[in-house]
Amino acid sequence: MTMNVEIMTLANTKRTLDAATVADLRARVRGSVLTAADAGYDAARRIWNAMIDKRPALIVRCAGAADVLEAVRFAATQQVLVSVRGGGHNVAGTAVCDGGLMIDLSLMKGIQVDPVARAAWAQPGLLWQEFDHETQAFGLATTGGVVGETGIAGLTLGGGVGWLVRKYGLSCDNLLAVDVVTADGQFQRATPEENGDLFWALRGGGGNFGVVTAFRYRLHPVSTVLAGLVIHPRDAARDMIRFHRDFITTAPEELTSYIGLITAPDGQPVIALASCYCGDLGEGERVLRPLREFGSPLIDDVKPIPYAGIQGVFGPAFPWGNRNYWKSRFLRELPDAAVDAVVEHANRGKSPLSAVVLEYYGGAASRLAADTTAFPHRAAAYHILILGQWRDAAEDSVHVGWARDCWEAVRPWSSAAAYMNMLGDDAGAQAVRDAYGVNYPRLAALKARFDPNNLFRLNQNIAPGEIQ
Ligand code: FAD
Repeated sequence: MTMNVEIMTLANTKRTLDAATVADLRARVRGSVLTAADAGYDAARRIWNAMIDKRPALIVRCAGAADVLEAVRFAATQQVLVSVRGGGHNVAGTAVCDGGLMIDLSLMKGIQVDPVARAAWAQPGLLWQEFDHETQAFGLATTGGVVGETGIAGLTLGGGVGWLVRKYGLSCDNLLAVDVVTADGQFQRATPEENGDLFWALRGGGGNFGVVTAFRYRLHPVSTVLAGLVIHPRDAARDMIRFHRDFITTAPEELTSYIGLITAPDGQPVIALASCYCGDLGEGERVLRPLREFGSPLIDDVKPIPYAGIQGVFGPAFPWGNRNYWKSRFLRELPDAAVDAVVEHANRGKSPLSAVVLEYYGGAASRLAADTTAFPHRAAAYHILILGQWRDAAEDSVHVGWARDCWEAVRPWSSAAAYMNMLGDDAGAQAVRDAYGVNYPRLAALKARFDPNNLFRLNQNIAPGEIQ
């Protein structure tokens, strides 16, 4: 039986939707509409980061684009608070809202790979491991995140980096077309030729411009890669980071290689070099040899493996249900003093689940101008991620404090900006603007055009028309 539902409005007030209104929405969608009284509600509102525990008034579990149209039109007509969930893997937890309407896309997992055109249409509920499964059947892939459980939607809309970034650019650089329902309840296709401004904004502007119902990606021939971890004791961290810094800047673009200051399963603090070479395997052996032969590794697990294999390596380290507080910064440079600061603060980590990751991009991602897409940080040399992760809520302040201290310690070498996809729920307006960087004024103008009432506000939000 459908009952009245109290819901949060865009004016931040509560109002009652009568039972007939909710029943009408239910009748219009092919998927389902859940309230707190319905079976499956708690599972549907759950997201990856256990720090976020929000209770939407309504969850529309969309079965397809038609349901997205209904949900957006309902939200716009009723002027209710809206959140949009793709993979539910964002640390800020913007996929779910308190008291509003959650548009849940997680059941929309359709994908059609065209091996001849080397392209795929993919729906926004897909996770990277599902996307890779389908494209790998044809020996194809595109740049996606390094954890298979991450959603393709949020990641791509914010930029998207992963093992193929240096060879093939960001995930958003590989978009050929996007189908989106905008705040006026209209379905639009955005490509470089059609709705070009919208297409530009969707490649880095996050969830600000509408609800994406399908992405068309360019695919590349990628099947077996030379990839895996080389692990050293933490005592070797300074030497390894300096060596890696000098090595990676001249390495071929087929190689993407990150550094992780992590804790091994046996409790030993270590430094891990995680690498993926996506070109000729023999050439990869030659390229990776200096990295593998430097120092005295505890483990060298680099070997030819299917691309989906390396995509699966990090998943177990980031399970659903842990508490997470992350910080991100783009670094202008990585001098020895910065290396010392990174290692010193990583060594102070209080949770064996926490990690500090140094990523170097360059390559294809850096050849585009900052204003080619909404994602602007093409010239940044390094990206540092401080990943606070733990299980016990009583320890929140300890691990949050550690992440913040570590983030402060690298400030002298950083640009103001963080990677938008890694911002937490406490980022603040200036950090959000810095994350959009030089493209903020154009994004704000386009936000005013496509979403003047800021219907899509539960994201790293761009205020409509605010260009100062
Ligand atoms: P969700 O939480 O579902 O969505 C996040 C936001 O994206 C939503 O609030 C909404 O604003 C928007 N959104 C989602 N779907 C849509 C849609 N269809 N239409 C419009 N807006 C939408 N990023 C990388 O680039 N590379 C990585 O390797 C990487 N690894 C990660 C590993 C882990 C363990 C985690 C937690 C995150 C990682 N990220 C990585 C960050 C990731 O890009 C973001 O968290 C991203 O938001 C996840 O997308 P999602 O769809 O799973 O998230």
